[in-house]
Amino acid sequence: MLEMMVVVPVDAQESAETSTRRFNKLHCELQCPQCWMISEAAVALPFGRPNGDGYRLGETLAWREGVPFEMGGRPADGHCVSEGAAQCGGCKTILAVSVHVWQDRLTKAIAVGEYRKTTCFSA
Ligand SMILES: [Zn+2]
Repeated sequence: MLEMMVVVPVDAQESAETSTRRFNKLHCELQCPQCWMISEAAVALPFGRPNGDGYRLGETLAWREGVPFEMGGRPADGHCVSEGAAQCGGCKTILAVSVHVWQDRLTKAIAVGEYRKTTCFSA
């Protein structure tokens, strides 16, 4: 539990200074798979060019130029499914969130379970 709290900058207010430079935020509604509550969440995205303003679903993600996906670059054709993290507004569980990007647009975010620091990249 301690490890998760250290690794995941989910609280925008608490960690804005440090996290917004490295993580994008996706603001969306999530349904928690632990307590089933639907709440507004800020999902930390470990990809894309850091943008302090954050994103909403449907918006086009900015990529960093000249670097691979793992470093914030654009995946092939602008498609990827990757894992972000957010905190449930109800039970406060740190959740793993499956984030879908299609043609550079953030199309879907689904909380899939408790975050286990297994962030993986697929493109
Ligand atoms: Zn919950």
